[in-house]
Amino acid sequence: MDRNSPSSLINAVDTHLLETVGVAPAQATPTELMQAVAQVAREQLSRRWVATQRREQDEKARRVYYLSMEFLIGRTLGNALAALGLADGAAQAVTQHAQKLEDVAEREPDAALGNGGLGRLAACFLDSMATLGLPSFGYGIRYEYGMFAQSIQQGCQVEYPDPWLADGTPWEFPRAGITYPVRFGGWVEHQGHQGGKALWRHAGEVAAKAYDMVVPGHGTSKVSTLRLWKAVAPAHIDLHAFNTGDYARAASVKNEYENISWVLYPNDSTPAGRELRLRQEYFFVAASVQDILARHLDEYGTLANLADKVAMHLNDTHPAIAVAELMRVLCDEQDMAWEQAWSITQRVFSYTNHTLMPEALETWPVSLMQHVLPRHLEIIFRINQAFLDFAAAQRPGELGFLSRLSLVDESGERRVRMAHLSIVGSHKVNGVSALHSELLVKTIFADFAALWPERFTNMTNGVTPRRWLAQANPGLAGLLDRTLGAKWRLDLDQLQALRELRGNEGFRAEFMAVKRANKARLAEHIARSTGIAVDPASLFDVQVKRIHEYKRQLLNVLHLVARYQAILAHPNAGWVPRTAIFAGKAASSYAAAKSIIRLIHDVGSVINRDARVAGLLKVVFVPNYGVSVAEVIMPGADLSEQISTAGTEASGTGNMKLALNGALTIGTDDGANIEIRQQVGDDNIFIFGLKTPEVQALRASGYQPMRWYEGNPQLKHVLDAIAGGTFSPEEPGRYRGLVDSLLWGGDHYLLLADFASYAETQLRVDALFRQSGEWASRAIANVAGMGAFSSDRTIREYAQQIWGMTPAP
Ligand SMILES: *Cc1c(COP(=O)(O)O)cnc(C)c1O
Repeated sequence: MDRNSPSSLINAVDTHLLETVGVAPAQATPTELMQAVAQVAREQLSRRWVATQRREQDEKARRVYYLSMEFLIGRTLGNALAALGLADGAAQAVTQHAQKLEDVAEREPDAALGNGGLGRLAACFLDSMATLGLPSFGYGIRYEYGMFAQSIQQGCQVEYPDPWLADGTPWEFPRAGITYPVRFGGWVEHQGHQGGKALWRHAGEVAAKAYDMVVPGHGTSKVSTLRLWKAVAPAHIDLHAFNTGDYARAASVKNEYENISWVLYPNDSTPAGRELRLRQEYFFVAASVQDILARHLDEYGTLANLADKVAMHLNDTHPAIAVAELMRVLCDEQDMAWEQAWSITQRVFSYTNHTLMPEALETWPVSLMQHVLPRHLEIIFRINQAFLDFAAAQRPGELGFLSRLSLVDESGERRVRMAHLSIVGSHKVNGVSALHSELLVKTIFADFAALWPERFTNMTNGVTPRRWLAQANPGLAGLLDRTLGAKWRLDLDQLQALRELRGNEGFRAEFMAVKRANKARLAEHIARSTGIAVDPASLFDVQVKRIHEYKRQLLNVLHLVARYQAILAHPNAGWVPRTAIFAGKAASSYAAAKSIIRLIHDVGSVINRDARVAGLLKVVFVPNYGVSVAEVIMPGADLSEQISTAGTEASGTGNMKLALNGALTIGTDDGANIEIRQQVGDDNIFIFGLKTPEVQALRASGYQPMRWYEGNPQLKHVLDAIAGGTFSPEEPGRYRGLVDSLLWGGDHYLLLADFASYAETQLRVDALFRQSGEWASRAIANVAGMGAFSSDRTIREYAQQIWGMTPAP
């Protein structure tokens, strides 16, 4: 019998309700139904996992191991059902219980094991690696608490813990037999050891236990694996305290070990700098390296061919200590000669950089590393010595060159530069958009690029169309299926065919009807989560992403205040009704970002209550931005705000998701916006503001924000209103500091310099929106141009150009 037939699925769900969930099928709640449907999918994933592992072992294929501190996964049920071809059957099964699959799926908590773009990229990559049938594992940490939940109280962000595992998750497979010791601290002995080999007398040890999440591919029976590590106290720990009945002490000792995998650091683009973070990084790297080598030895019985069969990728520098760890294991534990081990290491590793901002580059104090990882510090010093000898031979006598290259920053407190360790230990280093990769070799890594130009390359980011179009936007997916067939899911370039339909009245009408329905769905979400009613007929102007000064949510606010003032001054100027929609979390310790969230709320509450602009302008902030909230927002957007200072946003992927869902971009010449412009055409995107060389030139010439303030009456009026308390009458000085940081604090991200261009461009947006047919045509052109931004394309490039693998065509 066909296990996927609707009647089998109905039976399977009822059986799981009865036998796994423990409830009478007739009384099942939506949450219980979600659990039962998930169990049905889980069984099939399990079979696919076993078959895939067996096949990959037999084929002795090269594998890629994607090491990442973050995987921002979101919900799994909808994606798993679609990949397994169970979506229709599951929908019928829950209908038997008088429920809708959509509502049932919403009961699943997000797996939010990441902060933002970097973690979401890793999740999109897993989806593409599985779909392309690439032999692959992701490795990360099984945080008990993921990204905090955000609520808003009196306009301010309040953070709550995210106990996403509290009720268990149907998606993980605990691998009881797979556990490795991870050691910390102590000292190193060299006596009696030959050739630099050493004995690490560690001081502490924790066990890493494996939990697998099975990642289904689409259009294939292959799956990939995300192996997450949980820290547990070694079994022998402090039995004495237990034996003597001192349970409190025994528990506190246990906690000291297990806190390593408790919580995700909620910082985005800022290094955490704390000892626990360093322990987290080493913990998951050490467990992963042991697991990878054990698998390799099991299959080949030797490590000599490791580099032929294993690629390890560093997602940013967070796992960079893996370079030293692999050297340590090969030399100290496997008795390999240093030179051979180093040659293998360099061929195994590759590294992706995610940021140009110097303050975001990860470094660790030498003293802390000495304390936590003494043997690794020695290995890093030895790598550095050999590297600097090599560099000195290239440019004799250039001491500045050498000190800039060194793995150790000697200015002030000595610190290990993790990016330098990653570059030296890798055969390829990539940026994440064309501009970012170009700037990398011209700025922060220029000295390395002078030594090794061929090591640096570009891999423009992408997003998975399965989640960000098929799942998030079933309306548009259905229209595409009727128009192009269903293959675009696996070959996003097929969207090109939509270009021809831009002028087709019937297609435009259908396309805009889908957009309108998505806007209504988003309006419902806004009403539910904020209590504010918004009009789906208005232009939905969307900026959703982490709150960061460089992303310039504040520039958006300045424009909204300008617009508010202009409407008051010229009420009958034929304004296009607009709803400005924000969402995003601020790092808990980032005061400026939190102040921006509060300002958005304060500006919104004045504007939304002012009857004079009713029907013309609304400002809302959707709380608790995450993958599932993004899946509701992206399809309902008309305008995508991608307005970072040119040269600061490495790529962006929110820009891709929004354009893929038919939003037009208003953006700077930054990150992947530049490539989006090339793909959709200049007429179908609004680019404004200073370009990267102009930003550099303005800063170099001595930028004086006060000049822009004095020179632009509209801008002055806006800043005076915010600083003077128009939006915070109960505390008029609330935003004085924020405005002063622009006027007197240097306006590091050049908001004032870009304001006029931004405001002028927003008027062009209005003009286009008034011509609804033209707008529709350009929105369609955006969808048509997004083939290049499928993460399938990105992963193919990584596989071929970096990992030395050939994915099936
Ligand atoms: C895509 C995505 C991001 C990244 O957005 P950017 O606009 O590229 O910064 C962050 N968070 C979530 C939940 C996302 O889905």
